[in-house]
Amino acid sequence: MAFTLPNLPYEFAALEPHIDARTMEIHHDKHHAAYVNNLNAALQGTEHEGKTIEELLADISKLPPAVRNNGGGHWNHSMFWTIMGPNAGGTPGGDLGAQIDKTFGSFDEMKKQFAQAATTRFGSGWAWLSLDSDGNLFISSTPNQDNPLMDLAEKKGTPILGLDVWEHAYYLHYQNRRPDYITSWWNTVNWSEVNRRYADAKK
Ligand code: MN
Repeated sequence: MAFTLPNLPYEFAALEPHIDARTMEIHHDKHHAAYVNNLNAALQGTEHEGKTIEELLADISKLPPAVRNNGGGHWNHSMFWTIMGPNAGGTPGGDLGAQIDKTFGSFDEMKKQFAQAATTRFGSGWAWLSLDSDGNLFISSTPNQDNPLMDLAEKKGTPILGLDVWEHAYYLHYQNRRPDYITSWWNTVNWSEVNRRYADAKK
């Protein structure tokens, strides 16, 4: 079964003024669609066809670069759309809010460290808040379309929040001002979905 592009769970304009409609449209309909198409093309006729995306990522060091780049791109964006939403932002609350306070001292301190990871990622990549196999939260960043689920990640874990800092994610509206995009992006975070992913990752 080939991979398919998931629908965006809200309108292109739903994240304005933080992320503009045109950026969302190109990002979802062109960029994410290309990752899906290229991933399917890379897997077609190989022994890896039919594996889940998580199975592919867990073994990615043994797979061709096209699977790494496009498989990562597919997983990362599929997650990214869901952890944002209209009328969002605020604070995490729930079990995750408590765990963030315990791990980082405060929500503001977690945001600061996450923004630092996102700002200093050179070139294209992602910043992540993940849960490691011991149940500890950690912040990391990865280049290109890599992520902490990949066997080759420097710090492995299950991402529960991710931020795309490729220029295609913000350049139309923010141009070179990546820090402004990051600051504004917090207003789009759907913390109930991040809490759901946290509970899921703890199982
Ligand atoms: Mn992207």
